Formats: sequence, C-alpha cells, structure tokens
Amino acid sequence: MDSRSKILILGAGFGGTYSLMYLVKHLKPDDNSKLTIISDDNFFTFAPMLHEVAMGAIDPRSIAFPIRKLKGSERFNFIQTAVKDVDFSRRIVTTAIGEEEYDYIILALGSVSSLAECDPNLQNYYTLKNLHDAMLIRNHIIEMFEQAIVEKNTENRKRMLTFVVSGAGYTGVQTVAELRDFVHNDLLKVYRSINHEDVRIILIEPQPKIIHEMHTKMGAYVMNYLKKKGIDVWLKSRITQGQENQIEINGETGIDTNTVIWVTGVVANPLLAALGAKIDNIGRIFVDEYLGVTGNQGVYETGDCAHFENRKTGKVAPPRAHMAVRQAKIASRNILADIRGTAKKRYYFSDAPEIITLGAASAVFRFRTIRLYGFFARFIWMAAYSLLVIDAHKRTRIITDWLLELIFGRDTTLLKDKKYKYDD
Ligand SMILES: Cc1cc2nc3c(=O)[nH]c(=O)nc-3n(C[C@H](O)[C@H](O)[C@H](O)COP(=O)(O)OP(=O)(O)OC[C@H]3O[C@@H](n4cnc5c(N)ncnc54)[C@H](O)[C@@H]3O)c2cc1C
Repeated sequence: MDSRSKILILGAGFGGTYSLMYLVKHLKPDDNSKLTIISDDNFFTFAPMLHEVAMGAIDPRSIAFPIRKLKGSERFNFIQTAVKDVDFSRRIVTTAIGEEEYDYIILALGSVSSLAECDPNLQNYYTLKNLHDAMLIRNHIIEMFEQAIVEKNTENRKRMLTFVVSGAGYTGVQTVAELRDFVHNDLLKVYRSINHEDVRIILIEPQPKIIHEMHTKMGAYVMNYLKKKGIDVWLKSRITQGQENQIEINGETGIDTNTVIWVTGVVANPLLAALGAKIDNIGRIFVDEYLGVTGNQGVYETGDCAHFENRKTGKVAPPRAHMAVRQAKIASRNILADIRGTAKKRYYFSDAPEIITLGAASAVFRFRTIRLYGFFARFIWMAAYSLLVIDAHKRTRIITDWLLELIFGRDTTLLKDKKYKYDD
C-alpha cells in the first residue's frame, strides 16, 4: 500500500500548470507525496493568445505546450482524460477512465463560454475558448472568402463577408480588432477581386458601453479606434433570434451573416455546480483567504472557477491569466503547509494593470495613473505575456510568428476539418 500523500491537480490551464510547476520545484522527498495532474488535453493552452490564433497571426502549436515535456516530468504523473465528478467526502475523483484518490486537490478546471443568451436556433456561431475553436474560426473565415470570390449573387456574397462578434468584453474587443486586421491587411490583399465595400465587421454589445469595467478614457479611445478601423459597434443590442444565415437584433433589425463569433462572457466549468459546494451566479466555488474550499480540508481552487472576494474592497478576482498564476502559487504553497504542518499564506489581489490588444500593432495599457496607447502599449502586452509562456521553445515560436506576420503577412491556407474526397 502506497503511504504517500496524494496531491491531485485537475486541469492543465494557467491555474493547474502553474500549480504543478510550483509543486514539482518545491516538493521534497521528506514530504513523502505523489503528484498527479489530470486534464482533457495533453497540453497547456496559452488562452490569452487564442484570438491571435483564430485570426491567423500565431500558429496553433505555438501556444500549446505538452504537459509531459515540462521540466521535472519524472516527479509527476499525467493522465489525459475528462474529469466527471469529485466526491469531497470520499476524496475520490471520477474520470472517463476510472477513479483517482486524493488527500489534497487543486481544482483548476477553468470556465466555458456562456451560452445562456444564445438562441438555440442560431447556427454558424463559433465560441472561442480552446485551440480547436480558434482553428475552426480561422478556417471558416478563409472559407467564406473562398466562397465569396466565386459567388455571383451580390446578396449572398455580402452575407458571406459579414462577420459578427457578439460581446464587447475583453475577449470580444480583442477578437474583433484582430479580425479586422486579418481581413483588411491580409485576406483582401489575397482575394483581390473582392470589393472592400462588401465586407462588414460588426461588434454587438447589450451594455451601453464596451468593456464596461475599463477606465472611461481608455474605453473612449478603444471605441474611437474601432470606429476608425471601420468596425460597426452596436451598443444596447443583443441577438434576439438566430436562423441559418440571419440574426435578429433587439427583435427588429435583421443581419444576413454566416458568421457569429460568440464571446459574451464565461461561466465556471459546469461540473463544479454538482459538487455540493457554495457557488456564485456564474458557477464559481467560493474560496477562503487561503484559496481553500470552506468546509473541505485539503481542497483548493485557482483561476476562473474560484470566487475570491477581497474583503476590504468587496471586489471579486476577475477571470484573468495573471490571477490564476498567482493563485496557483498560493494554493500549492498552502498544500505544502498542510503537509508540513507550517503556517499557510493568505491570498490577496490588488489593482492589476489593464491591457487590451487592438490588432497586430496597437493596444491600450493602464496601471494606476499611467495610461499608454498604440504600439508601445502593444509592445508591453507582447513582453508581459511572452514572459508568462512556460518554456523558451514556445516563447521563441510565438515571437517568430509575430515577426513573420510583420514581414510576410498572415498565412491564409485553408485547412479543412474533414477527410478529403476526390470530388471536394
Ligand atoms: C480568447 C481569450 C482571450 C483572453 N485574453 C486574456 C488576456 O488578454 N489577459 C488575461 O489575463 N486573460 C485572458 N483570458 C482569460 C485567461 O485565459 C483565463 O483567465 C485563464 O486561462 C484562466 O486559467 P484557468 O486555469 O482557470 O483555466 P484554463 O486556462 O481555461 O484551464 C482549464 C483547464 O482545465 C481543462 N479542463 C476543463 N474541463 C475539464 C474536464 N472536465 N476534465 C479534464 N480537464 C478539463 C482544460 O482543458 C484546461 O486545460 C482570455 C481568454 C480567452 C478565451
């Protein structure tokens, strides 16, 4: 019988992978522990660059890092499977291939796209949460250009070239700006006979402003930037109905389109709701100041699935990569404290920098009273996020992709997501 303490990490995103790296580095033989991570993909995805993959700026494999290649991989087990359930009382995780026991666990299962307001009849919509989504979006956009260039009917052609992004939060704004650059800087140069006037890019947002949590001056800058770039921004608007090739806005206006990118927000991984712990309105489990799940000894949470409230300010930690990384370090450290019987560390978060990319060459940045706009802000974004990439090989690939894009433009190869037949 294995007498070692079993530490289990669920999910290999920012929270899970950074927890793993911390524990691999700090666990000592005296801790007498066995470390295991379970995730449904065999790689870590650098999600803040997904919109750049979706718009062809970065190659998909550049932002995916195989977990088994992590430094110190001889000190942990990796199991690629889907988690189905966690039984806190029996300390057992059920997966698609069996059961796994634990003494200490870190839940880092992230979030999923919120589809609560998505009309089930809406077709041709794409979410952007993982690498597969990003690859589908890129191929679909290129396919629309391939179809449009040979389409004789003007109405059909315009429909194919109308791209709608639903949701003007961080992800929606970054996605629509990147989409605009992809279309105007690359696709329209390759598909030369397409009339620029036939292309429409629309951003739809139910709130009266874009990225409602952003500083007002920055919000105004971003709004002007999007308009200057020819993006139609529809505020106080929501998709009320969807059909095969059309959407209806606010119950009245119809837009003919084959493409809706649905980025209206996230909810915590739905699996958490069934675990019996207290959850908030978007399904995140409440955690205490040590990132522990109240009433469940040895259970910790990090990232998008944790609801942590700063008691002094009443603010809840937002779903951001940097938050997940810091939480991962605290949660892992507290597991070591549990094992060693030492003092635990409290988690806190303060005013984090705000930074949003606006396509290939622009961004906005704010930290306290400092505000920066344009390429310099984009450069800060590139530097800050490159440093979060977990290994030198992938960091080099990402930087090379950016340079190649700058010199040669984005790749417009259409990779169909199906088996080829001779008549295709
Ligand atoms: C397009 C996009 C742009 C973004 N831009 C930014 C940005 O600019 N700045 C920023 O700070 N943040 C950004 N974010 C948010 C940031 O990526 C998240 O806050 C961060 O990834 C959260 O980390 P996490 O570990 O909680 O979840 P994730 O990184 O999503 O990891 C969750 C992990 O759990 C695995 N998993 C899920 N369900 C199961 C299951 N049932 N069984 C097994 N494994 C499972 C997943 O495969 C994944 O490995 C962006 C996100 C997206 C999608």
